[in-house]
Amino acid sequence: MSAASGPGADATVVGIAKVIDQDVVNPALNDEARAIRADIPMRQDPGDLEDYIRCWSEDDVLDGKPCRALVVILKTRGCTWALAGGCTMCGYANESAWSKVSNDQLVRQFEKAWRKYDGEELVKIYTSGSFIDPKEIPVPAQQRILDLVGMGPKKVAFESLPGFIQPGTFEAIAGRVQRLEVGVGVESSNHRVLRDAVNKGHGFDTFPRAAAICKEHGVSVKAYLMCKPPFLKESDALTDSTQTIIDAAPHSNVVSLNPTNIQGRTVVDALYRRGSYRAPWLWTLVQALLDGRTVAEEAGFDQILKSDVIAAGQDRGAHNCGACDERVGKYLKKYKDTQDKKWLAECLERVRCDCRYEWELVRELGPLVPGYAGL
Ligand code: SF4
Ligand SMILES: [Zn+2]
Repeated sequence: MSAASGPGADATVVGIAKVIDQDVVNPALNDEARAIRADIPMRQDPGDLEDYIRCWSEDDVLDGKPCRALVVILKTRGCTWALAGGCTMCGYANESAWSKVSNDQLVRQFEKAWRKYDGEELVKIYTSGSFIDPKEIPVPAQQRILDLVGMGPKKVAFESLPGFIQPGTFEAIAGRVQRLEVGVGVESSNHRVLRDAVNKGHGFDTFPRAAAICKEHGVSVKAYLMCKPPFLKESDALTDSTQTIIDAAPHSNVVSLNPTNIQGRTVVDALYRRGSYRAPWLWTLVQALLDGRTVAEEAGFDQILKSDVIAAGQDRGAHNCGACDERVGKYLKKYKDTQDKKWLAECLERVRCDCRYEWELVRELGPLVPGYAGL
């Protein structure tokens, strides 16, 4: 089945015009993303559509205090944007059904997962796209799922493209759970990075607009930022992440700086296999958090800014030289838990490792490999 045919591709045509801005689409990257996603196994066999992808309980933080969170990942048709090509670093499409999943099937999935609920205060309901995309989870299924959660947990979190956050969005689902939080993939506040590195499909200006609608409805906002999308030098990644923290902070209750990790069947993965991509240095994360937080605080930001490093220390995740990764990781965790930037400054001051010179050299000299080679 080609990327341009099949149920997913056909079904996505509707709705895209509303949420995708062609000015933030790089056609060459989008073609590449579509081609790479053509042979995703789930497209041939999505498996049992009444079964969720994964469900587990984990530690989290709610209102500044440690809590338990139940995480449910539902099997949906997929992200509207990923079905049409999508972001260069996103592997969620590997876990999408790429075919219609009915309301009953979606609710059945959640019912099964909900049997694992054990009094967690926070419930995170993730899909491989947007919980409030009516093509992915129609409103009646959104309502039935939230009704199953009910008023027990203190908060329900989900993710969405900003384009689906419209004035009427929350009216349809209001009053069914105690509180809502929406995570938005902001990635960068730089237009060229969004278009020519991420192929994001929407500009930064959609975020403050969506965040204002959330605020009006008492819904908290989590901004996901991407540290070092492809084609960026380490120094560019640092500048971009720092500036994006500063730009996103005033609109966010939580800012999460996510280092790009290399997921299968993505443009980033293709570049990595050709030796043309290195995940960000942990030093870059520490410096961006410190510089971004310092400026954001001066402007009045007192909310959460964190970085959850996935696959830390591994080649496919943010890493330093191997010798200092664990120490730097501990400082990042201390900072995350306390939200005190002194731990970031102390990390840069106290962790003395030879790889700092290499990091500084890479920042000064730029990439050691040509970015667009082979694409
Ligand atoms: S990062 Fe988000 S918007 Fe981009 S393709 Fe993945 S799920 Fe869709
Ligand atoms: Zn080191």
